[in-house]
Amino acid sequence: MKNQEETLDPSDWTEVRELAHRMVEDAVRHLDEVRERHVWQPIPEEVRARFRTPLPTGPQPLGDVYEELRENMLPYAMGNIYPRFWGWYMGSGNFTGALGDFLAAIDGSNLGGGSTAAAMIDMQVIDWFKEMMEFPPTASGTLTSGGSMANLLAHTITRNMMAGVDVRAEGIVGIPRPLRFYASDQVHSCHQKALETLGLGARSLRMVASDERQRIDLSALEAAIAEDRAAGVAPVCVIGTAGTTNTGATDDLKALAALCRREGLRFHVDGCIGAFLKIAPENRALVAGIELADSVALDPHKWLHTPFEAGCVLVRDADRHFEAFEMHGEYLQLQTRGMIAGKFLADYGLELSRGFKALKIWMSLKENGAPKLGRLIDQNIAQARHLEGLIAADPRLELVAPVDLNIVCFRYAGGLKDEVALKEVNTEIMLRIQESGFAILSDTTVAGRHCLRVAINNHRTTRQDLSVLLSEVLRTGAGVAHERARSAATVSTVGKKTPIIHERKAEGA
Ligand SMILES: *Cc1c(COP(=O)(O)O)cnc(C)c1O
Repeated sequence: MKNQEETLDPSDWTEVRELAHRMVEDAVRHLDEVRERHVWQPIPEEVRARFRTPLPTGPQPLGDVYEELRENMLPYAMGNIYPRFWGWYMGSGNFTGALGDFLAAIDGSNLGGGSTAAAMIDMQVIDWFKEMMEFPPTASGTLTSGGSMANLLAHTITRNMMAGVDVRAEGIVGIPRPLRFYASDQVHSCHQKALETLGLGARSLRMVASDERQRIDLSALEAAIAEDRAAGVAPVCVIGTAGTTNTGATDDLKALAALCRREGLRFHVDGCIGAFLKIAPENRALVAGIELADSVALDPHKWLHTPFEAGCVLVRDADRHFEAFEMHGEYLQLQTRGMIAGKFLADYGLELSRGFKALKIWMSLKENGAPKLGRLIDQNIAQARHLEGLIAADPRLELVAPVDLNIVCFRYAGGLKDEVALKEVNTEIMLRIQESGFAILSDTTVAGRHCLRVAINNHRTTRQDLSVLLSEVLRTGAGVAHERARSAATVSTVGKKTPIIHERKAEGA
């Protein structure tokens, strides 16, 4: 040994290089063979135990560490990379994004600021998003961990602008009148969390009734604003949703923009699901008006399939954005020359040190081009309409909400009359299908009716996958309903499982 000093680098890279190559080989195979596995499976107790061992106090060959992960981590993933994952609302990732995350770590730059190519890429991704959303080049934006953080940043800017006091100096105790944000009753829960975090309280979010297509009711909104003004509350912002989480509904964004202009309110769009419709050739009209917003939250880790995490907020007025978050300690003064010359990216959000999230987005956009990513969005919507058609054609199934986008809410109804029985049977169908590893779907309640929910936000899904899903729902539903009818009302239906046909058999492969 040359000296006594240590480093994390190996003294000889040969072994690590080979191991790294093997990891890439395995990773490619993992994706190539994704269809041959289960979407999800419960974690056995002995595997759980492996993750409860105490802090390592000695070294271990990296090859062994990797083997442990191959055995205990990869088989127990969420499964959102799998073609039949349609639960909640997630993207399905992509390999280029994974390479991007790797290269970002190798580059190592801290994206808080600095005159680096990484920062240029970060700013270029923001510019591309502005272009997609038809925001002016003068607008600003920042990449965030996700949609929740993007919405929080937007609401922080609104609070500071509309408070009637210098909130950064005085705090919320100085705000003379309660501030009110408006959104439909379908708004995502992260908005309430954001307003609670900002010290404005849950009551600062007023949820307005939605119409029969789950869009905000405009006259109810106007009435709510007038009522609040009369009561001495300060209306400050309308949150329009482009693609609701429950059903994929989109508010009338143009009408909301006009209303906000008339009333002197800020207009924010939660586009976590729907904003990227702007690049979908066949469906972009659905989000017409998003370009009129003062701010938009987008979620690349949903419909752009960026591996977690990646969100973004765009803000029309770059100065107000900067004023809300700009902060420089004496150890971090801005310079016009040298390493940290130029725009300081941390001045646009809460984190100082920031990861290089932009790279995985940038690489995928360069590789595929925006039109292809847009076509994949259209493809998911076409698949949802296909599924809607299949459901409508089967008397045992019932659509519970109109299919406006890529989310299909339906339930197995075969002979079931009351809501309690419907909920019980459909919950059991969902759980059995999840536990079988065949597919992942989730559930929700729309206008008081419980239902299964299939959110097709997946570039690996085929129509065949959706047909097979319906066969499974029908088969499982018939089994559960039969068990339920046979057992007395006092006996639980849970526990007697209808076996699920395995994929290869089901697809005749
Ligand atoms: C997913 C979602 C969010 C939250 O985004 P995260 O990235 O999960 O933090 C907010 N709004 C809507 C409409 C969403 O679908």
